Amino acid sequence: MKLITIPFFLLTLLFIVETQAATPAQLEWQADYQLAVSFDCERGLLTGTSRIEVKAGETLALDSSGLTITGILLKRQDTTAMEGTFTSGTTIIVDANPKPQELFVSYTYQAGANDQNLITSDAITLLSGWYPKPKRKMHYQLSASLPEGFTAISESETFPLARKGNIVTAALHQPLSSIHFAAARYDTAQITVRNNLRVHTLFFPEDRALANDYLKKARGYIIRYEKEIGPYPYGYYAVVANRNPTGLGMPTFTLLGQAVLRLPFIKDTSLGHEIIHSWFGNSVDVDPSQGNWCEGLTSYLADHAFRTDEGEGAAYRKEAILNYLSYVHETNVIPLSDFIDAGHSQPEALARRAVGYSRGMMLFHELHERLGHAHFMNGLRAFYAQHQHGSATWNDLRLAFAERSHGVDLSQFFTERLQRTDIPAFHAEQIEVLTRPTGNLLTFTLVQETEKPYSLSIPVVVSTPNSTYPFTVTSDKERTEVELQLPERPLAFTLDPDSALLRRLDPPERPAIWSDFLGSERRLAILASRQDEPIFHPLLEILRNNNLQVKYDDEVKNSDLRDADLLLLGLNQQSVRTLFASPSHPKKGFTLDVRRNPLTSQHVAILVSSSSTAETAAVANRLSHYGKYGFLHFSQGRLTEKRIPESKNGVHIVLEEPIFGGATSQLGSFEKIVRELAEKDVIYIGENHTSVSDHLLQLRLIEVLSARIPSLAIGMEMFPATSQQALDEYVLGKGFMTEKDFLKASRYFEVWQYDYRYFREIFSLAKTKKIPVIGLNLERDIVSTVYRTGGTDELSAADRKSLPPERDLDLPGYSDRLLAVHSMHEQGGHGSGIVSGFIQAQAIWDETMAENIVKYLRQHSDRKMVVLAGNGHTRKDSGIPPRVARRMKIDQGVVLNVAADQPTTDIADIADYFFFSSSIKLEELPKMGVMLEEHVKNDQPYVEITDFSPTSKAPEAGLKKGDVLRNIAGFPVSDMVDVRIAMLDMAGAKTVNIQVERKQASSTHHLDFTIDLTPSQPPGQHP
Ligand SMILES: [Zn+2]
Repeated sequence: MKLITIPFFLLTLLFIVETQAATPAQLEWQADYQLAVSFDCERGLLTGTSRIEVKAGETLALDSSGLTITGILLKRQDTTAMEGTFTSGTTIIVDANPKPQELFVSYTYQAGANDQNLITSDAITLLSGWYPKPKRKMHYQLSASLPEGFTAISESETFPLARKGNIVTAALHQPLSSIHFAAARYDTAQITVRNNLRVHTLFFPEDRALANDYLKKARGYIIRYEKEIGPYPYGYYAVVANRNPTGLGMPTFTLLGQAVLRLPFIKDTSLGHEIIHSWFGNSVDVDPSQGNWCEGLTSYLADHAFRTDEGEGAAYRKEAILNYLSYVHETNVIPLSDFIDAGHSQPEALARRAVGYSRGMMLFHELHERLGHAHFMNGLRAFYAQHQHGSATWNDLRLAFAERSHGVDLSQFFTERLQRTDIPAFHAEQIEVLTRPTGNLLTFTLVQETEKPYSLSIPVVVSTPNSTYPFTVTSDKERTEVELQLPERPLAFTLDPDSALLRRLDPPERPAIWSDFLGSERRLAILASRQDEPIFHPLLEILRNNNLQVKYDDEVKNSDLRDADLLLLGLNQQSVRTLFASPSHPKKGFTLDVRRNPLTSQHVAILVSSSSTAETAAVANRLSHYGKYGFLHFSQGRLTEKRIPESKNGVHIVLEEPIFGGATSQLGSFEKIVRELAEKDVIYIGENHTSVSDHLLQLRLIEVLSARIPSLAIGMEMFPATSQQALDEYVLGKGFMTEKDFLKASRYFEVWQYDYRYFREIFSLAKTKKIPVIGLNLERDIVSTVYRTGGTDELSAADRKSLPPERDLDLPGYSDRLLAVHSMHEQGGHGSGIVSGFIQAQAIWDETMAENIVKYLRQHSDRKMVVLAGNGHTRKDSGIPPRVARRMKIDQGVVLNVAADQPTTDIADIADYFFFSSSIKLEELPKMGVMLEEHVKNDQPYVEITDFSPTSKAPEAGLKKGDVLRNIAGFPVSDMVDVRIAMLDMAGAKTVNIQVERKQASSTHHLDFTIDLTPSQPPGQHP
């Protein structure tokens, strides 16, 4: 280190000595950091001198980055010599000395365009990097030479600051890690809170009108927290305006951006949060060695408390939990004990905030619930009294509460919530309602799903028709047996109905919200077209740095849609049509519309539309504040509509489906219902494919409807549109086509496979009355390819082109219902399909049938149609009807046959009319008892007998394994479909004649046999 003498330096020191004259006389402590500054506002320049006491044996390090050091001088107590030292780099270091030392630093600081500081002739704001900053807390005394007409504020005992001429001086008895300074031509106002305590506002003159509300609100908060926590720790409180957009709380004042100040909700939200920081964060400072406890606590005592006052505590906690789930993932999670501050780099800042603020806040709520209100508040008061004007750790907090927890050990509670990175998750199993002489018992097993169980107190609410019964279930192991005594028979119960715990939520508890996309780790933005790019550019710019993949619609494959959170920019694109058919947004303004990605329950899809680049630019950088919403509309930057989607609260378990019924006076006769149905353009009659009574109802309704409607057609799911020629020829033709030929030509058994006898009488009616039958379905292999491969990518270009481009996968309840069916299929071992394939296959199916119905009705404008399809397809909420309605304005009616053993509580969502009928079985067809296999030789299929069932009489008749079936009852047979067609008329038959081909030696013989079809006696049974 180079030591030189600088006479000039002595002059600046005199400045410090002189300004000390303005120090308030009552200071009974000594400042060990004296700072004097003056400003050249024209040039944005600050000139400063620091005098810092260095105690005997102490090393001092000062951060001087961003400053221009003009002189450094170190003075030891035992010598009068003054010597200057210059350092290179950004740190000034004073080595320890056995004697106390004094360090003098003179410097200049140039306010830049890119930092938070501001030095102009209008206003001065100094937040960080404007003086050589020691890395430890110090007692500061700041003197500033002010421009004419400025009022200044800094951390200080009193306000206004002590003043002599144009020099003001600020000092606070509390050691601080940093100080801040603001000065401007403020308009000041004040209000008295109590003896010796006032609140001040320092607003810009144009905001004068806002002062009164801020003063009153701030006074209210201080009175509230003095009552709750203890005396306000400083001599005054001030709300200070800043030209830059800040929201900062420091000892004795808060600095709010002018634009922030003008937001109407700030004084009801952030102001209270900043004021409680006077107690926690400023007076009791965070000792960061165990993490920052303060943001969780202040969020709980301010933001959470204010919403609780409005009766919205549970809603606030739910928002906090959703926020945590949106932003915190396995890859970025930190334990609460590692949270110091959010930092500035997005998106980690959002994940960190979710830990420090949301998880921290939930810890205090859980603690509050455990200890009860009185003990919790007493604990807080003791903590404050003990650590006022000092620093405290999480452990200090725990100890303050532990003394008030009546011997309950809180160390496990704190350790789990501070150290662990997972969060609780649980469900109920083995649920039973038991009737006992003493009343009803609700019993269940509470299962914790985390690798290691948490110690939890879980609120449970049981409901009966007339009341609710609250319980608390404690659990600290993987499985906890729960037994709840109830005076009435329960209907339902809910675990954690008021979001008392930060935990993993069930899908029905999680609405699709914007923050799910903001916090996503797999994001894909899809632009409708290259021309649209400028319109969405401002939004893309903001999102782009956070690993956002951007594609144009024409580059997107179907499989891209299923494993990402989607941002669909512009509605006019195939990706939107594939998932949401034709959604509509307001024509003008900017709309952000959050949906679940229908192809995967893990992801969201955001539909965004904007009428101009200016509309997008006006909202783009503010959108991150609206994470909790599911729908937003802005007009010229102004929020005009916002919606939080509905979701369930708590894990809800229904013990008894609600009983439903209706007035018998409303029951209609068959004739009355038919009269009403005859008015409709399309009448759907849903079916369970193997229920004879459902098909009988179809027959009866077509009989009477065709008598009333001369222009009736029958649309059938059971035939693809490609069968139309066969259908026309068989039903409407001259009668040359036999039933067997029709079944072959229409490929009925290849497409449908259910017994044809269900429809035999309907066809004979159609033939007699010449009612056209229209095939509505698409080719089976298209559906099965989509199902098997998870999407449409594997289809041929021609097949892909044949699909309806607009497919709505987002109808209410559609994907939930299909997911339930899918998981049933998978468990039953039927399927190998991927969820996204199953859902898309179903939608393609429904949309195709809707399109074929509409096509027919457009070509035959005088016609009406009865549609026969499975009762999943005929649902009026999410089946074919809403898809027809999207394409054509017509009157539709849905009829359903309800079997007595199938309670359907949502009947009103499914159908318009329902009938009750008893179930009937199809007459069983006799069996030959032969195992058959279909083979192909020289392109010709043939059917070979491979084995016999134990009761078969075919071997007695002379048949042998290896025989090839050629004819059954006079019907030539070459494949399995032929076998089914041939056997259709066998009901009641005692014998059947068959012909087989058998190879003997080198020649082939044709042999005829007659097989006895009467079942033989099962072994071991009496006649
Ligand atoms: Zn805070």
